[in-house]
Amino acid sequence: MSLWERAYLPEILRGLAITSGVFLRNMGRWITGKKGALTTFYPEESRWDYAPRNRGKHVLVQRANGKPQCIACNLCATVCPAKVIEIEAGFDPSDVAHPKFPLRFEIDYSRCVFCGLCVEACPEDAIRMAKETPGLPAEDRHQMWLTRDEMLGWQPQRDAAKPYPGNGGDPGNPADKGDEADKGAR
Ligand code: SF4
Ligand code: SF4
Repeated sequence: MSLWERAYLPEILRGLAITSGVFLRNMGRWITGKKGALTTFYPEESRWDYAPRNRGKHVLVQRANGKPQCIACNLCATVCPAKVIEIEAGFDPSDVAHPKFPLRFEIDYSRCVFCGLCVEACPEDAIRMAKETPGLPAEDRHQMWLTRDEMLGWQPQRDAAKPYPGNGGDPGNPADKGDEADKGAR
């Protein structure tokens, strides 16, 4: 450190000047009705600048017919370190290819640590995490359980940003390999 820095007091005063400057600038913008500091008034506002790989709300992938891609194997619930996933399996003998499905699939967001292990463990790529956060604030922790139908909101077949080589996809088309690329990005 230079002699000036070792004198200690000048650097303290410089730090205070920077802090006061930022404070006064934001206060001025606030008083004049402009958006000042990067403050998000959560939950009324949600941030627009989540990183693309942010692990936010869970999404259950739908098949082309709208049914969940999940086969209720319970792997995600087993691997979950917080033990917040509850699955009740159903059986549909008329669906020969995928007779087992989740009758109930719920996540307790009051205890989820957003580690993403459930997504990594899924053998069917049936659960993903969107970058947006779920609506967490609640007066009662029982309201923080997210149900199957609340998560079952994304059809990859209809999402141009994430093409999916499922039903209707062409495996030979490079555009249809987006799912694999997406898997690598997770
Ligand atoms: S993100 Fe982690 S804590 Fe949350 S449900 Fe998945 S495995 Fe469990
Ligand atoms: S989301 Fe995946 S890991 Fe979890 S039960 Fe369904 S198929 Fe199994």
